[in-house]
Amino acid sequence: MKKLLLILILLSLYHTETSPIVFNLSKPILLNHTMRKVPKSEIYTVFAYCPCAKCCGRKTGITASGTVATEGRTVASDLPFGTKVHIEGIGRRVVEDRGVSGKVIDLYCDSHSDALKFGRKELKVKINHR
Ligand SMILES: [Zn+2]
Repeated sequence: MKKLLLILILLSLYHTETSPIVFNLSKPILLNHTMRKVPKSEIYTVFAYCPCAKCCGRKTGITASGTVATEGRTVASDLPFGTKVHIEGIGRRVVEDRGVSGKVIDLYCDSHSDALKFGRKELKVKINHR
């Protein structure tokens, strides 16, 4: 009888000791790992648009933030205006316009045919949140 009790105590000790150790050690390590090691680059779906009626429904050339849309600088995104983004293979751009949401960036171009030619790309984007 005493032996059985001892075994039960040992078993319960074994269980309470192993499971919390597994959870307590692995969770914080994983959190720290993702917070420190993963760079701020994320995959975005990148499209292109021009100021024509087909792309915008209006033809003003003025962005939602009030700037003059400029090829090589302006992009549309739901990130705050002025946010600088670095798009893989394309370069630095500034969020000045709206019209897309989520992990999507719309590149401004002057010509509709250029926008069509660009199509849709999945690209790494680094976002400067400051
Ligand atoms: Zn267009």
